[in-house]
This record gives sequence, C-alpha cells and structure tokens, in this order.
Amino acid sequence: MTDSIAKVFNGETKLGILGGGQLGKMMALPAANWHLPYWILDKDESVPAAPYATKFVAGDFRKEEDVLRFGRQVDVLTIEIEHVHTGALHQLVKEGVIVHPAPSVLDIIKDKGAQKLFYEEHQLPSSPFMLLEDEGAIRAAVKEGKIQLPFVQKSRTGGYDGRGVTVIKTADDLANNLLPGPALIEELVDIDKELGVVVARNADGEMKSFPVVEMAFDPVANLVDYLLAPAQITQALEQKAIALAEQTAAAYGLSGLLAVELFLTKSGELLINEVAPRPHNSGHHTIESCLTSQFEQHLRGVLNLPLGDTRLLQTAVMLNILGEPGASGPVNYRGMGEVLGIPDVFVHLYGKKETRPFRKMGHVTIMAANPQEALQKAEKVKAVLRCGV
Ligand code: ADP
Repeated sequence: MTDSIAKVFNGETKLGILGGGQLGKMMALPAANWHLPYWILDKDESVPAAPYATKFVAGDFRKEEDVLRFGRQVDVLTIEIEHVHTGALHQLVKEGVIVHPAPSVLDIIKDKGAQKLFYEEHQLPSSPFMLLEDEGAIRAAVKEGKIQLPFVQKSRTGGYDGRGVTVIKTADDLANNLLPGPALIEELVDIDKELGVVVARNADGEMKSFPVVEMAFDPVANLVDYLLAPAQITQALEQKAIALAEQTAAAYGLSGLLAVELFLTKSGELLINEVAPRPHNSGHHTIESCLTSQFEQHLRGVLNLPLGDTRLLQTAVMLNILGEPGASGPVNYRGMGEVLGIPDVFVHLYGKKETRPFRKMGHVTIMAANPQEALQKAEKVKAVLRCGV
C-alpha cells in the first residue's frame, strides 16, 4: 500500500471518471486539494465537471470503444453514474487497469432485479419481490393471485430519480399505467421513514460510515425535498442501520462509496431499498457538515488510502435546488443574496445553463445547533430561492 500511496501523492496515478455531471464536479474539488491528475469522460465540455478536470475527453461512457480508449489512458478508473458500458470495464480489468467499483458489482447494481436476488442470496433484508418479463406477465400473475394490489412496479434497468417506478393500486392502473419491459414487482412497504447511509470501503477492507440521514420526498417531483442529518431515530436503530449498510458493502466487496437507501417500516423493521456505488445526493451535506466529505472519501476508497473521519460537526439540512415547474430555458437564479445572508448556509450550483421543471440545478446545505433551527432556516431558504428563467 505504501508505494501506491506515494505514487498517488507524487501525481503519478491518473484517476479517470466515467461521467462529468455534478458528482464528478464535486469530486474534482477534493481531488484538486491533492493535485491529482483527474480525467473525465463525457459527451462534451458543457457538462458540470469539465472546467474542473485536469483533462477532459469527449466520448460516450455507454459506448464500449469510448470507455476502452479512455480507460487505457488512466491508472485507476471510477464512475459517477452506474449506466456505463460494463463490458469494456471487464476488459480493462483484464488489461491491468484498477476499476472501482468492480464491473461485476456494477452489473448487479445496474439491474434492480439482480440487486434483489443479491440481497436474497446474502440474507440481507429487503421487501418481498417477483421478477416478470413484461406487462402481460404482470397482468397474468395478478389474475392467478400470485401478486396482490397494491404493488410497486420498477423497470429493472435505466430508471433514476423515481422515473421507472410506479405504484399500481387499482384495476384501472393495472390496465393503463404499467411500465413497459422487464420489471421488478415489490410489495408496497408501509414506510415510516426513508433513511440513508453512505459507507466507504477500501481494497484493504477498511470501512467507515457517515451518520444516518433521513430523507423527506417531494411526491410531485419524486426527488428528495430535504434531507436531515442526523436522522431523528434512536441510537439503537442508528447502529442497526449502519451495521446493515456495512454488511451490504462487505457483501458486494466493493471499493469506494456505497450509498444504501433504507426503509424504516411502521413496524420498526429496516429494509434495503436500493444502493448506489458512488457519491450520492444523500451525502451532499457532508461537504460542510462532516470532517471528511463523501467526495474525498470516495477518492480515498478507490485509491486504497486510509479512510477519513466521518464525524458530523453540526445538524445539517440539505435542499436540492430544482428547476421551477413550468419554466424551461436559460436559468435565472433569484434570492441568492438573501440566502447567503442567512448564517451557516452554503450554496452549490452545478453550472447547468438550461433549467427544466424539477431538474437538479444545485443544492443548499444549512447548518444549525438542532433540527428545529435547521428546518426553520431551510423554510426561509425555500421561500426566497427561485430557479427559473
Ligand atoms: P429510484 O431509483 O428512481 O430512486 P427507488 O427504487 O428509490 O427509485 O424508488 C423511488 C421512491 O419510491 C422511494 O424513495 C420510495 O419513496 C418509493 N418506493 C420505492 N419502492 C417502494 C416500495 N416497495 N414500497 C413503498 N414505496 C416504495
């Protein structure tokens, strides 16, 4: 490990990132603290991370030849989005490139059905499910009494931010609102709280988790409305959630971050909803609120460095800055002066030129002595901040 650490800090280890969105941008900032060679592959230089990369390469992370060409030029390769060409990653591993998360882990996580089978196989708690080929098979299974209404239908691949998830409640939904293609069917969970744990692991097997967060969802946008750290749960439950997240990361055996989304059911059970093997929206607050940010921690994980201290310094609320409904076009922010005038409020913009309804344009982290104060300040931010045209 020592030689490889020296190489990293002497600038001899080129780090490649598939994807140059906001996560790639926020990871470039701690990479710059260590002056790491930080290479990005994405479609063109308009993406958020491009201005912060030491080298930007234009290409498509979904295309085999582009990922191969890019991967052959770097020493360690990671991702900021799961939907990349994993076939190319398997080939790069054979050629000696260090790829984290491992392509075999990505193959599982990209497919919500394969994820559920993995949890079943590893006896990790998750809601009851069934995998079905298409809408016809779903209707037949309902007819035969194998599935009961209501249930949740999820597209096995390609969904994100609630797209590709639908709740089928009625016969009318069953007739008209099913999503096309191979699907994961889940029991509708009676959710008390949605929790998140971001855990980091390195190749030596060291693991560290950030404090558990709780997420409140906007039902219209199907995105996180706000996030509160730490989650308002008992210490026993917090420990249980962290233990479950670490067990999951160890089962995958991955290096880097694993963001684990959990349901706390009304009966007090913890279930894994899904995971992401990269920095995650539920860890954005760590930039200000924790001693080490999730972005630096991902770098430490994939480069096999000792992991950083994840202690939370103060209560934090994170709000996503979403494009206003009904507004599309060149973005115009209003109320920033007022927002920056509130103490301990931190604005992050992703540099997207065009806004669209509910597009993730940035986020705000709000710190305070306790949850009540933090949420009050968050309401003030929400009242003045506008992301329109
Ligand atoms: P995405 O990958 O698009 O984020 P998720 O699988 O996380 O999709 O689902 C989005 C949201 O839908 C969850 O945050 C939760 O609120 C709700 N949801 C998902 N699965 C279930 C379930 N089995 N029961 C109840 N609600 C669910």
